[in-house]
Amino acid sequence: MKLVSFRDGARLRAGRIGAAGEILPFAGCDMQQLIEARAGGADWPATEPPLAAAVQLLAPLPRPRRNVFCVGLNYRSHAAELAARGFNGARSADDLIPPAPVVFSKVPESVVGPGAAIEIPAVSSAIDYEAELAVVIGKGGRNIAAADALAHVFGYTIVNDVTARDLQKRHQQWLLGKGCDTFCPMGPCIVTADALDGANARIRLWVNGELRQDGNSNDLVFGIPAIIESISAALTLQPGDVIATGTPAGVAMGFSPPPWLKAGDVVKVEIDGIGVLENPVTR
Ligand code: MG
Repeated sequence: MKLVSFRDGARLRAGRIGAAGEILPFAGCDMQQLIEARAGGADWPATEPPLAAAVQLLAPLPRPRRNVFCVGLNYRSHAAELAARGFNGARSADDLIPPAPVVFSKVPESVVGPGAAIEIPAVSSAIDYEAELAVVIGKGGRNIAAADALAHVFGYTIVNDVTARDLQKRHQQWLLGKGCDTFCPMGPCIVTADALDGANARIRLWVNGELRQDGNSNDLVFGIPAIIESISAALTLQPGDVIATGTPAGVAMGFSPPPWLKAGDVVKVEIDGIGVLENPVTR
């Protein structure tokens, strides 16, 4: 099932996509409420008749309740491309593959939906893209074992982990470089966990129609169960938490010279089985 968020007047609502592509609004809940209800054992809510007019989709969780968790350096192919450029003094991918997941976060206010602009901040001149499969947590929990982790996955969506490389380097901690306003495009929908194999999903990204990234989540260093086990060993995961799992090879930083994003560019991410997330770039 594919689930979307949209605005109905002043109301934030959730719906599911019907067989003909129409949106069937759920009665009386937004996406966060839907996820919490399902995590609590509720049935799927009733749907209303399809929307008559087209709507602009929002990020499936337009304003997550807390920071979006992210995992860095989590694809072997990405570690290899950075090692080839001598990133952090590395001579091989093995030098960059971390012994435990590198977890950081993006502030909730950085989330934007399909079609919304990625705004280049005046303070940066090195904006990069990162196509990522993101997990949406259903049932929360602490100390979730890897073997039980997939039972806590509500579904999957796409995140573009937009990054100001100069800020990421300048400030050492990644919060500012990763968390600029508009730097977390998300969408277009959440695919429920039963409808996608998160361990084998093809991920592609284009800039102005040019294919830059073409990977598969079967190349993850730390798979989704291991990521959930690691994060929940430290803190309690909650319904509606989003975890972006890392990006495959092909980021701008991996090229010489790097083709940083610029105003007027259009970035498109596609994950087979989820859909397409496209965002223009402005300054
Ligand atoms: Mg990333």
